[in-house]
Amino acid sequence: MQLIFMGPPGAGKGTQAQLLAALWKIPHISTGDILRACVVAKTDLGQKAQSYMDRGELVPDELLMDIVQERMNQPDAKSGWILDGFPRTVPQAAFFDRLLCDVDGAGGSNSGKDCDLRAVNLDVPDNVLVTRLLSRGRQDDNEQTIRRRLQVYREQTEPLIEFYRNREQLVAVDGDREMQEVTAELQKALSGDS
Ligand code: ADP
Repeated sequence: MQLIFMGPPGAGKGTQAQLLAALWKIPHISTGDILRACVVAKTDLGQKAQSYMDRGELVPDELLMDIVQERMNQPDAKSGWILDGFPRTVPQAAFFDRLLCDVDGAGGSNSGKDCDLRAVNLDVPDNVLVTRLLSRGRQDDNEQTIRRRLQVYREQTEPLIEFYRNREQLVAVDGDREMQEVTAELQKALSGDS
């Protein structure tokens, strides 16, 4: 299983990704979690990333590419994974195609079509997202930052939905429902022979 979880901040991708990864015994790789760990550990990367995260801006692509490349080369990422929060921009998606085809040993092709990849989008309306994020209370969950994150999502990440739809790799799920219902629908859509 090679899954990308997309969706706006607060859509529940982290929760669902964690649950399904545990169920399917594959790693849940969250770039947000990795970045927050770097901030806490005060690494170089963490120090560079923190101001972007606090403002609700995306951390520069180059930093993410290094993080993801290193993580995808770990032994536990060989047979499958759920990637949560990456790719988030068109350049990140293009980079990821190249990386994936290398990791796969498919060599050469950068269309991404040969890769056994599916991209899940969890769709949730903005008013629901804002309410959810305000009640979560993470450091970057204040109203101003939330608004900026939603705007950045619409501008930079939403275009990826079309990108994966055009490649017939998109699985779209309504995320504005009870958590268990969303999990059940994801399981149905992703396991089996679809
Ligand atoms: P959310 O999706 O709820 O905003 P995440 O934990 O996925 O939360 O991300 C938190 C922050 O980490 C983002 O606002 C952004 O600054 C940074 N970040 C995470 N993933 C990426 C990425 N792929 N590219 C750029 N920045 C990222």
